[in-house]
Amino acid sequence: MDKQHYKFSTKTVDCYFDAVFSFLEKLVSKEKAVIITDDNIASIYAEKFTGWKVIAIKPGEKNKQQSTVDHVINQLIKIQADRETFIIGIGGGVITDIAGYTASVYMRGVKFAFVPTSILAMVDAAIGGKNGVDVGMYKNLVGVIRHSEFLLYDYSFLKTLPQEEWINGFAEIIKHACIKDEKLFERLENNSLENFRESPEKIADLIKRNVEIKYKVVSNDEFEAGERKLLNFGHTLGHAIENIYQLPHGNAVSIGMVAACKISEEMNDFPTVDSERVIDLLKKYNLPVTLPFGESRRGAVWEVLLMDKKKSGDAINFILLNKIGDAIVKPVSLHQLKDLINQVL
Ligand code: ADP
Ligand code: ZN
Repeated sequence: MDKQHYKFSTKTVDCYFDAVFSFLEKLVSKEKAVIITDDNIASIYAEKFTGWKVIAIKPGEKNKQQSTVDHVINQLIKIQADRETFIIGIGGGVITDIAGYTASVYMRGVKFAFVPTSILAMVDAAIGGKNGVDVGMYKNLVGVIRHSEFLLYDYSFLKTLPQEEWINGFAEIIKHACIKDEKLFERLENNSLENFRESPEKIADLIKRNVEIKYKVVSNDEFEAGERKLLNFGHTLGHAIENIYQLPHGNAVSIGMVAACKISEEMNDFPTVDSERVIDLLKKYNLPVTLPFGESRRGAVWEVLLMDKKKSGDAINFILLNKIGDAIVKPVSLHQLKDLINQVL
């Protein structure tokens, strides 16, 4: 096991890499703990969870809603959870969001920790303290920034992660490489999803590198005044596409990154050859690079973009690439953006 400490303004988060699930008992008493997970994980890992109190919710992003939080709160009341209760979110990004948010508001806040089980949760959702729910069309509109006590990484959970969820998670890994780490980008070019799936050492190494990138960006700018915005690369358009076309998050972000590369070419002298490298890498990891449907719904995408919470005045802050591994925040006027979207979508 490899223990790291990640310092934030309000908390130091202990991170246990290369751990095994059974170590959880050493970190928190079974008496006080309540596991929040989803039905898929609860049924696959029923045996692992014997002896623990478990609240399971329905899986999927469509359940990342306030009504699910209300349901979990009712379950917590039923099992007489109190201020000493310690919530453990075990699952993908939906679970870390719901568990972290519920723990932050239940009795004005109880302790919580995560055991991320999807690639996306391991490299992204579990780190940085952002937890919350979607409201209708609007992703992550309501929530908190509150850090977990610890993160426990047991990579053996990945053995049961479906292929499409591996693919989705790699969108965030490629995002990290694009904005921060050219070496990581090259490592991804020189490997494949199969290489990482088949090699426990390679995936452990890759995940740790990505946690470090995310931690570094977040700790430099916890409240998103500047650098943290870079993590939204591909996400401004991505979120709009995800909503309109009902695509998985990673798929939508992949298309969003392609669009952001093209806008970077137009507005930021990002070399066309580098744009092509990003597109090739996304394709190599089985991610889509164009919208999957013939009928263009630019109008609807545009409406959602306008409502995006990142909108400020008559411009939207867009994350653009200078080169691979180096990104910048630039305001793009709505007028400019409309032209660009008509070109790239
Ligand atoms: P994400 O992690 O992509 O944000 P979710 O929390 O919705 O999103 O997880 C994606 C899907 O993968 C869900 O259906 C969830 O039940 C499933 N899942 C997550 N981790 C595992 C795992 N280790 N084994 C099997 N299924 C998993
Ligand atoms: Zn994302």
